[in-house]
Amino acid sequence: ALDFRDVVKEFGDNRVLDELDFSIARGETVSLIGPSGSGKTTVLRMAMQLESVTSGSLKILGEELPTEAEGKLKPGVASRPDLARRCGMVFQQYNLFPHMNVLANLTLSPQSVLKMSRDEAVEASRRYLALVGLSDKEDAYPRQLSGGQQQRIAIARALVMRPEILLLDEITSALDPELVGEVLDVVKNLASETDITILTVTHEMRFARDVSDRVAMFSGGKVVEFADPSIIFEAPTHPRTRSFLNSVL
Ligand code: ATP
Repeated sequence: ALDFRDVVKEFGDNRVLDELDFSIARGETVSLIGPSGSGKTTVLRMAMQLESVTSGSLKILGEELPTEAEGKLKPGVASRPDLARRCGMVFQQYNLFPHMNVLANLTLSPQSVLKMSRDEAVEASRRYLALVGLSDKEDAYPRQLSGGQQQRIAIARALVMRPEILLLDEITSALDPELVGEVLDVVKNLASETDITILTVTHEMRFARDVSDRVAMFSGGKVVEFADPSIIFEAPTHPRTRSFLNSVL
């Protein structure tokens, strides 16, 4: 679903991703771990086309994104909106529309972007509300919900657009510790019950171990180790992985 070949990302003369070279298969769940500033979020933002690719080849769902080198990109505009539409992203801050109730938050994009009828959008939204366990909250406004509930709504809002790739950027980092579990359980379910490809940046090492098919360890803009969670967490081969895990576990 995602193919990185010698992908480089530079902000000015700061190279933040250095020749990334890996593929993620359809349906795989991959966690990106590593120290702050190592480039994990930038990987997700590039896949979502919120950042451009400086050079190299990044294929999303088999199709290559244009790079900065080709000189045709417009700042802030996805060069392949058709591919962006097949991806969904959930952020650390849930970004729900505060003045809309839950159902309105969910039905907005399916109607405006996917051109669903209102009835279809409502039906689809209810299906995903049930999936995240919040069927009873469709009339609530975001401020009436806990952080964990808001984040589950944000996940449902992404799912209602039927993404083939789901990009999750530290979705539990802003939550009180007791609310983290309910959000991670939703993702666990998605990983096991659907064929959505999931790429998640996370600081929750137990989650990365339990939910991932593979884990990518980032350090200084490079992937230093990309392996099964059992290897990463029990027998890491790279010294950077060992020192990182020692510092966080
Ligand atoms: P964290 O866990 O703290 O979010 P991260 O591994 O996700 O870290 P990124 O957010 O991808 O790291 O950032 C990688 C590097 O790119 C950092 O040095 C950051 O300062 C830089 N960077 C990110 N976005 C921009 C931008 N829009 N302009 C300039 N530099 C940026």
